[in-house]
Amino acid sequence: NSSLHELDPDVAAAVDAELHRQQSTLEMIASENFAPVAVMEAQGSVLTNKYAEGYPGRRYYGGCEHVDVVEQIAIDRIKALFGAEAANVQPHSGAQANAAAMFALIKPGDTILGLNLAHGGHLTHGMKINFSGKLYNVVPYHVDEKTNLVDMDEVERLAKEHRPKLIVAGWSAYPRQLDFAAFRRIADEVGAYLMVDMAHFAGLVAAGLHPSPIPHAHVVTTTTHKTLGGPRGGVILSTAELAKKINSAVFPGQQGGPLEHVIAAKAVSFKVAASEEFKERQQRTLEGAKILAERLIQDDVTAHGVSVLSGGTDVHLVLVDLRDSELDGQQAEDRLHEVGITVNRNAIPNDPRPPMITSGLRIGTPALATRGFQADDFREVADIIAEALKPTYDRDALSARVTALAEKYPLYPSL
Ligand code: PLP
Repeated sequence: NSSLHELDPDVAAAVDAELHRQQSTLEMIASENFAPVAVMEAQGSVLTNKYAEGYPGRRYYGGCEHVDVVEQIAIDRIKALFGAEAANVQPHSGAQANAAAMFALIKPGDTILGLNLAHGGHLTHGMKINFSGKLYNVVPYHVDEKTNLVDMDEVERLAKEHRPKLIVAGWSAYPRQLDFAAFRRIADEVGAYLMVDMAHFAGLVAAGLHPSPIPHAHVVTTTTHKTLGGPRGGVILSTAELAKKINSAVFPGQQGGPLEHVIAAKAVSFKVAASEEFKERQQRTLEGAKILAERLIQDDVTAHGVSVLSGGTDVHLVLVDLRDSELDGQQAEDRLHEVGITVNRNAIPNDPRPPMITSGLRIGTPALATRGFQADDFREVADIIAEALKPTYDRDALSARVTALAEKYPLYPSL
């Protein structure tokens, strides 16, 4: 019963160092967030010890009476949060959720339509060496070269030509909203299922600040750790009609024992996501992203070849276009890292640079909004980023400004 520090000082030291990194830098990776202490408490609980193959009330193991309660709470809460008819809260991650949903709906060799990875799609939407690209015949759709918006004419044309069994709508790097009704109309025309992967924007949907895909899609998948702000994990929402197929695709189709400690943490985060305070945080998330986009399209920045894809954002992230800048994605990521801001480089549509270098940055505001950032703080961080992307940047001065912001909003003070 030793503590982590006593039993394993090596791992404990790395965990402590990571806590310090999170506390002392500004986290702007668009897919990250800070889970509440209560969520981490549930995730670090004795529920990690329990096997519970099956579903509440129908398990293959004894002693499941308490994890049944937990899992049912999680299911009921997320159904209420999104107005979904059915929910499976067992997927270990977003990728597992997508794998299981596809496993439930289509067969290997069937055709799927998904947004191309380099145009903002996720690996699981049909990337060549991902399971999705290996098992299914993938027809990718793209964003329009001029507007950088998903080209719905192309989606319709490809759907009619290739008659997919499944159309996937959703993204990992896209600064605008999708037209779910148009996707469903096209899916219906060709007899395909529509699956929306709302992993990135689920928190915005929960807060009512982004259109909901639920009324349009047969199946909606999500992660729980991005804008939703919970533990690392996945969820599948569906119509009641598809619930049985989805459940058996998750278990026994794809997974064994569910992570009931993570499911407990998911349940806690769904309670938080239904609160007024969560909604207010999502409003600041959106406002922060808009402030950042506006700052990065001002003349002093664009003069250095930096611009913002699609000219702005409707969501929690901004895609910075460095195609005309001397800085490539890697250099820009490193530059921001040097001053204490964490972002990730990201390929942008028609990127002339190789995928490990890229000509883009993806910058998100969810974690800073969780930390408490207000509009003025987002103005300051936007200005720091704008200055850091100029050739004249002053590293020490910018680092000091980052430290001041980090100290203004102490993270996990009780840890
Ligand atoms: N779907 C989308 C749209 C994502 O952006 C991601 C993660 O980046 C995933 C699925 C996969 O989630 P995970 O990393 O939990 O497997």
